[in-house]
Amino acid sequence: MKFGFDIDDTLIDLRRHAFHLYSKKLNKSIGEDLFDKILTVEIHEAFGMTSEEGSKMWNDSMEDIYFTDCPSYEGAKEVLQALAEEGHEIYYITSRPKGYCEQTREWVKAQGFPVVDERFFCGMKDHEKIDIIKKLQLDVYVDDKPAVLNTLTGTNTKVIVKNQSYNQEMECTRLLNWSEFNGLIQNATS
Ligand SMILES: [Mg+2]
Repeated sequence: MKFGFDIDDTLIDLRRHAFHLYSKKLNKSIGEDLFDKILTVEIHEAFGMTSEEGSKMWNDSMEDIYFTDCPSYEGAKEVLQALAEEGHEIYYITSRPKGYCEQTREWVKAQGFPVVDERFFCGMKDHEKIDIIKKLQLDVYVDDKPAVLNTLTGTNTKVIVKNQSYNQEMECTRLLNWSEFNGLIQNATS
């Protein structure tokens, strides 16, 4: 089977990592409990920033956010490794900016995720992911953003949403923890 995965906030805990980096940079310690209450993909509001200030902060911090020690979600790596070992095709589809694609691919590899270079897609806009997903005829695709997943209704791809505060309204198969993934797939394919 062909499995596609978004990276940020699907396989790795990027927003939380950025939240910690912001706290350090701005010297503002904001409780971890507040992080879970942020209902937008963007995190700047929790730091009292306008969306303009937030964009600037994100852009200025991007290298640190992307390429330091952002943790993967527990079990994600192992799930993908097992799929690859079983002979399934693993695709990564990330809308990180074009300039960071190669570095991102190497970073993902270095974290221990199974990466085949030709199956790593990067640098498209969120709404353009559907073109690649359709072209690849993915059996399963996992992402966290409603803006992406909503474009996939009506396709043959089984869509799974990685649970986040900002996607609670999505009505599709929901992945709370990576330990549940195989169970969700069995239901999908039986
Ligand atoms: Mg994402």
